[in-house]
Amino acid sequence: MKIIATLVVLCIVNIGLADDPEAERLKPALDAITPDGLLGHIKTLASDEFEGRAPGSKGEELSIKYISDQFKTIGLEPGSPDGSYFQEVPLAGIKSEPTASFIVDGQTTMLNYPDDYVASSARLPEQIKVDNSSIVFVGYGIVAPEYGWDDYKDVDVHGKTLLMLINDPPIPNAKDPGKLDEKMFGGRAMTYYGRWMYKYEIAAKKGAAAAIIIHETGPAAYPYSVVRTSWSKENFELDAPDRNSGAVSVRSWITLDVAKKLLRDSRQDFDALKNSAISKDFRPVELKAKVSFEIKQQVRSFKSHNVIAKLDGSDPKLKDEYVIFSAHWDHLGKHPELSGDQIFNGAVDNASGVAAVISLGRAFTKLNPAPKRTLIFLATTAEEAGLLGAQYYALHPLYPLAKTLADINIDSMNVWGKTRDIEDTSFGMSTLDDALALRAQTQGRVAIANPRPEKGSIYRADNFEFAKVGVPALYIGKNEHLVARAPDAPLRGDEFDLHDYHQVSDEVKPDWDLSGAVQDVQLLFEVGYEVANGSKYPQWKPGNEFKPKRDAMLKAGSK
Ligand SMILES: [Zn+2]
Repeated sequence: MKIIATLVVLCIVNIGLADDPEAERLKPALDAITPDGLLGHIKTLASDEFEGRAPGSKGEELSIKYISDQFKTIGLEPGSPDGSYFQEVPLAGIKSEPTASFIVDGQTTMLNYPDDYVASSARLPEQIKVDNSSIVFVGYGIVAPEYGWDDYKDVDVHGKTLLMLINDPPIPNAKDPGKLDEKMFGGRAMTYYGRWMYKYEIAAKKGAAAAIIIHETGPAAYPYSVVRTSWSKENFELDAPDRNSGAVSVRSWITLDVAKKLLRDSRQDFDALKNSAISKDFRPVELKAKVSFEIKQQVRSFKSHNVIAKLDGSDPKLKDEYVIFSAHWDHLGKHPELSGDQIFNGAVDNASGVAAVISLGRAFTKLNPAPKRTLIFLATTAEEAGLLGAQYYALHPLYPLAKTLADINIDSMNVWGKTRDIEDTSFGMSTLDDALALRAQTQGRVAIANPRPEKGSIYRADNFEFAKVGVPALYIGKNEHLVARAPDAPLRGDEFDLHDYHQVSDEVKPDWDLSGAVQDVQLLFEVGYEVANGSKYPQWKPGNEFKPKRDAMLKAGSK
């Protein structure tokens, strides 16, 4: 009985392979995605000559030329309506020199920069001043109607300085206090309310003069050293026509020790305040303390570029609908103050993703006819500076967002061999994730969620800018289980994060094996193909935070 069943299965599999015209049709495209193809692009983009691909540098010139030349050679059309492969992104590079002091009981204490604190602004004047502003502790600083949460209540914080905790409130599970309540702020996962970006956005909305985040290593998911280095170098912002005057004046972080001392001096206790902040009943606490900031800014305005190409759809009606593949081309550049290696090559992050997008473009040109809908291949700038290239595209889309079915984003690929699974960072968020999971099965793999949800990775890559404006977005990562390792062995992706992530050592290495990356790119090809030819628009899952925006957009679009 068993043998017969096996034979029947074998026959079906066989017939499937030989006579499936769809598989035959896709084969030349899938075969065009190769380890050598990917590696060639990565080696060029991550070479020292490209100087770490900083926006506005020689590295940008070389990168955008290389990517657009590749798009052209492959046979993709220019993606910008002006007939070029570029979307100009106005950026401002800002170097800040801040001074800050606390005033308690008439006593002024100067803070040490950048060991005690960092402070900068997204506004673009040469000088920013906040004088003697009252400090209000606002807990996590969150307004989240869907959780019935408002840290501000009826308190007016206009012109004041908000002091807040990083991450979102860890609400204990009433039935099992050792665990977190999964229904509140995603349980262990970090929600957008936990990110520093949100904290500074809500501060601006509330009309606060400044916002200070108290750094804590666990909840932030990184040590203060990361805050110090990333906020004390030149930072980038979009250079909007209003020169970002809607942003909060001062964005600051202080160390936990400095925060504790400030609170002690103001006759408050950090632990007690923090504890009170995990309740819906929390109310802002005005401290008997004030703060002054002065920031001298060197602002350099320049145009950076998203690189964009398209492959027109073959269906006369559906060609006006779009599927985007995206990957950021930028990385951290070259830091002359370092001794030894000064170049952040960003081989994994994200030369690998750009290589994937170029390879996808090439693969799709092997199909005849082309998919029904138009495919967009987008290499974004300034992701490392805060998703700015993707944000600019989302605010100034070259193709209508309501007609954009999906963004499939790639940021850092697995370059260490074949894997048992594929990391779907956006796991379970939209029907795109279902499509990915199904396709992974046909490769004999499973889709898994990001194993470190507490890092809030889905809010830290370009997919988020698309999601924010409503477009369903898929984002795959590199935290996968290698076939060559035991199923419970450490993740190679974790080892990378520990040693090479955002370090000069993120380079092409001799132990690389791109066979797993090929599988991942082929998988994304199939998902993209399915969306580009499918009868349905991908959708956010019910209850997803981005769904209302999409529903409203599609409703307005159908009128
Ligand atoms: Zn990246």
